[in-house]
Amino acid sequence: MGFKESERGLNRKYIVAVCATVAVAVFALYAAKPGMRQVERDIFAMGTLVHISVSGGRQADLNSAVSDVAVEIMRLEKLFSARLTDSEISQINANPALVGGHTISAETYELLSLALRVAEETDGAFDPTVGAAVALWSIGTENARIPADAEIEKTLQTIDWRKVRLWREETSDEQRPGIYKASAGDGQMLDLGGIAKGFAANRAADILRSRGIKSALLDLGGDLVVVGQSPQGRSWRLGLQHPDEVRGNYFAVVTAADAALVTSGTYERFFERGGVRYHHILDPAFGRPSRSDLKSVSVIMKNDGGEKNSAHCDALSTALFVMGMEKARAFLDRHGEVQAVLVAERDGETIIHITDGLSDAISLNREAFPGGDGDSATRGQL
Ligand code: AMP
Ligand code: MG
Repeated sequence: MGFKESERGLNRKYIVAVCATVAVAVFALYAAKPGMRQVERDIFAMGTLVHISVSGGRQADLNSAVSDVAVEIMRLEKLFSARLTDSEISQINANPALVGGHTISAETYELLSLALRVAEETDGAFDPTVGAAVALWSIGTENARIPADAEIEKTLQTIDWRKVRLWREETSDEQRPGIYKASAGDGQMLDLGGIAKGFAANRAADILRSRGIKSALLDLGGDLVVVGQSPQGRSWRLGLQHPDEVRGNYFAVVTAADAALVTSGTYERFFERGGVRYHHILDPAFGRPSRSDLKSVSVIMKNDGGEKNSAHCDALSTALFVMGMEKARAFLDRHGEVQAVLVAERDGETIIHITDGLSDAISLNREAFPGGDGDSATRGQL
């Protein structure tokens, strides 16, 4: 069986349904021009494998840019991680309702502000106070388990982004005229796992741009940012991984330059019990893994050094996942600046929804789903 149905023109978007089981991961298809210098490095940070690749220019400049990016990502992890006990987020979690609040860095303030903004715009589908439930389920760790209903109920009472307070206090210190403060509700636990990698990817891209790097790829475990064009001097070709095939087999390719592409999926971290998959994306309304019909969500935005979109893409990928296909499509209809590829499973069939802003930049791989009548021509770029 190939494509079951192909609808176009629905809200100027289209849906392609295919029969195979699909999940999405992101990888880039590229190779440097012969003779062009390229420096690549893999590090483990923010709970994932981080791949940094820069091209063009002098070897020493590439080496130092890659080192600085690696150092910055590890520095941000030390601020944002809910697992490292001395991070700023863990300090808030240890005493969330501290009178007078906790003094936090400008970076943590900026990231928490964005997290609250996305919580508001997604009606709480993304909620940075989901931490107690994340810790309870411990999905992706050796302590993962199905908690008792009463335990879930208890953590549920701590989830509400509206209780987080952020403010700036003036000081008489000329060197440091304002300090940033944060507090949360009693018993609340912050978790920025759904947005922090995107923030780090933004920072990394900023560093590379400030060093004059014209071509770079950063992949933080599925949070992808490309700077400039590919080493071949063309748009990057970013593949959406076919889950049933070995790595490198994709069902679609997105063509983009200076862009952020973030994917959230159930296949990333999960355990299975009694035929049920318990995955790491929780529905804040229930304190349990989301029962969304979506299997994966990729969100794509321009990321050219102006608006810092990677963190926004990251939070939205998590939020759209929780919303499920129908609500996510309604959200995307209202937010034309956000491009996305939604993959759902319904009655054993896989449904792929692609926003119209991507239609010129995406090509579906007919071989991945033979017999399809999807768009297989790459005509433009994001
Ligand atoms: P992502 O892989 O970007 O979709 O983020 C998933 C991670 O974000 C999880 O491992 C949790 O740390 C956290 N998380 C899970 N569910 C939510 C949610 N609904 N809102 C905010 N963060 C979440
Ligand atoms: Mg996310």
